[in-house]
Amino acid sequence: MEHRLVNLTKAANLIRNSNKICVFTGAGISAESGIPPFRGEGGLWNRYDPHILEIGYFLTKPKESWEAIRTIFYDFFHQVAPNPAHKVLAQWESDGKITGLITQNIDNLHAQAGSVKVYEFHGNCDRLLCLDCNKSYPSLSVDLKELPPLCPDCFGLLKPDFVFFGEGIPPLAYQQSIEAASSCDLMLIIGTSGEVAPANHLPHFAKRNKASIIEINREPSPYTKTITDIYLEGKAGELLPELNDLINLNN
Ligand code: NAD
Ligand code: ZN
Repeated sequence: MEHRLVNLTKAANLIRNSNKICVFTGAGISAESGIPPFRGEGGLWNRYDPHILEIGYFLTKPKESWEAIRTIFYDFFHQVAPNPAHKVLAQWESDGKITGLITQNIDNLHAQAGSVKVYEFHGNCDRLLCLDCNKSYPSLSVDLKELPPLCPDCFGLLKPDFVFFGEGIPPLAYQQSIEAASSCDLMLIIGTSGEVAPANHLPHFAKRNKASIIEINREPSPYTKTITDIYLEGKAGELLPELNDLINLNN
């Protein structure tokens, strides 16, 4: 059998035999929904300077930061839909295989696909938070024509409720993610460069618990040669349905 099929079959067997899978996703899983990732081919950092998402820059130059944020995250995020990769993961959760899905993504696509136990490590772009009175607003309800948007109640600055560079991780999501990663027997790493800390430590919690690690990425990551047991190179939106077919074929 060719190497690729051997690896796919091994991965399908591991997934079939586990009911304690923890999934860890990054921007790559949403690439086929039309949202560019930060790094890799077509990545946003080829076009923008990452300082636009630093909290210090946002607080001193909210208009400039918001202009980029609006283009990247709000002009089209509300029109995108989950792709087959998100859907297969939601199906595996309802089949009782997945105990938790940790995502670094802020696009809400896992929840839209039907995943329930989703731990949003970096928050979510669907809400805007007032930095003065702490009220939160659905982002669709806020007019983003005039930037920066201000709180209708107290005129404080509104900030997307996702984690900027230099900010801490939301405590509940942090705790749930560590628990999910530490207690699984199989971790699926999907579409992440593994370069953003502290999220990139999570697969190591799984490995320490002797979990097997399957990685799906378009190019190798720091995990590939260190903790990954089975590396599947390609698009998540193609590989996950293929794995699902293999699992169902042998049932
Ligand atoms: P990243 O941009 O650093 O890396 C993306 C990875 O996905 C790359 O390793 C690439 O090889 C892989 N990839 C690209 N297309 C793929 C595909 N079709 N299938 C499988 N893999 C694919 O992403 P990151 O590691 O998540 O870190 C960036 C940070 O920015 C995270 O916090 C992330 O949530 C955030 N971000 C989020 C979104 C989103 O919510 N959709 C978009 C951009 C950035
Ligand atoms: Zn306010």
